[in-house]
Amino acid sequence: MVALEEQDRRAEDWRSGTTLVHGGCLRSPFGETSEALFLNSGFVYETAEEAEARFKGEAEGYVYSRYANPTVSMFEQRICALEGAEAARGTASGMAAVTAAMLCQLQAGDHVVSARALFGSCRYVVEDLLPRFGVESTLVDGRDIAAWRAAVRPNTKLFFFETPTNPTLELVDIQAVSELAHETGAQVVIDNVFATPMLQKPLALGADIVVYSATKHIDGQGRCLGGVVLGAEDFVEEKLHDFLKHTGPAMSPFNAWVLLKGLETLPLRVERQCASAAMVADFLAERPEVHKVYFPGRKENHQHAIAGRQMTAGGPLVSFDIAGGKAAAFRFLNALQIVKISNNLGDTKSLVTHPATTTHQRLDEQARAELGISDALMRLSLGLEDISDLLGDIDQALSASRI
Ligand SMILES: *Cc1c(COP(=O)(O)O)cnc(C)c1O
Repeated sequence: MVALEEQDRRAEDWRSGTTLVHGGCLRSPFGETSEALFLNSGFVYETAEEAEARFKGEAEGYVYSRYANPTVSMFEQRICALEGAEAARGTASGMAAVTAAMLCQLQAGDHVVSARALFGSCRYVVEDLLPRFGVESTLVDGRDIAAWRAAVRPNTKLFFFETPTNPTLELVDIQAVSELAHETGAQVVIDNVFATPMLQKPLALGADIVVYSATKHIDGQGRCLGGVVLGAEDFVEEKLHDFLKHTGPAMSPFNAWVLLKGLETLPLRVERQCASAAMVADFLAERPEVHKVYFPGRKENHQHAIAGRQMTAGGPLVSFDIAGGKAAAFRFLNALQIVKISNNLGDTKSLVTHPATTTHQRLDEQARAELGISDALMRLSLGLEDISDLLGDIDQALSASRI
């Protein structure tokens, strides 16, 4: 067997654009330019002694792709370098990452405090799944520090939230909530999908663990599912690794390869999407068919100051309330020609969602009202189309919503 060679000895000096192209590259003896796709489940050993040594952890090397795979390792090392984390593990999907980040460190009798405004499946995990295994959870308004403090119990082990939140793009103050968590001895897990790894660095702001659905902006081209958990080396090696290894939500090497290539162009795509989102937000704010625009990057946004402290741009999504409720919302959606109706986000294609009837229909009316999800709410994920074409499409669909 010939060992793979690590090429990035000076990687610590690199800026993120360089890291995302070269970081974590393991080049085989063939000297391939693009990262190799190791589409194999198992590995062979020269001798029985070698197999024994690898299983005992006394010799370096891969054992089985459920535990680790060279292409998946490249993805993990590259995103680790971008995030400024000590270690990371890829998973089959974003939900596998969220679930593993929690279950690997919780046990019956523990308590979790979570923001109420969550991606639908994350809310299921916190509200429905954890309690079935004896882990109680309390949902709070994530914007309210006093509410986090009031929810803490002696057995609180984890704080969990996303910021910006889905779908109203409200912000949680990462630094303030992390300080409170650490005062009380809890760990902070942040779902950083809506900010993308480009715009917000939760670990630098005090969070302990960051999770992503790599399905979104990291792939960014609507091709495959993936997730990743990032954090301190002892957490990843001692708690997360064994949980993933033995329960099996492994990232496929093929998906890791797609995501690795996605990382190379992430800064370019996110920068363009943020610029388009800012322009669309300003455009919507001027329109009589729009009641309210939710975009943390606008000066008029009530959380603009927090956005300035923890994000480097307003983000690649815009949400808004359309005048005329569900009927007008559906007329708007059905009139769009370039922007596609989808529950997904973070694609090259601009995608629009009506949360009340799709992603959040599982919640009852009161729960939706608590989250500000009215029948008029629309969530728009900006893609890479020409901004003039996008504004033209939105313009004609807003006109159609009035009829
Ligand atoms: C999509 C998403 C997830 C789940 O990711 P999957 O890859 O679909 O499993 C979790 N959190 C947020 C904020 C998301 O947008």
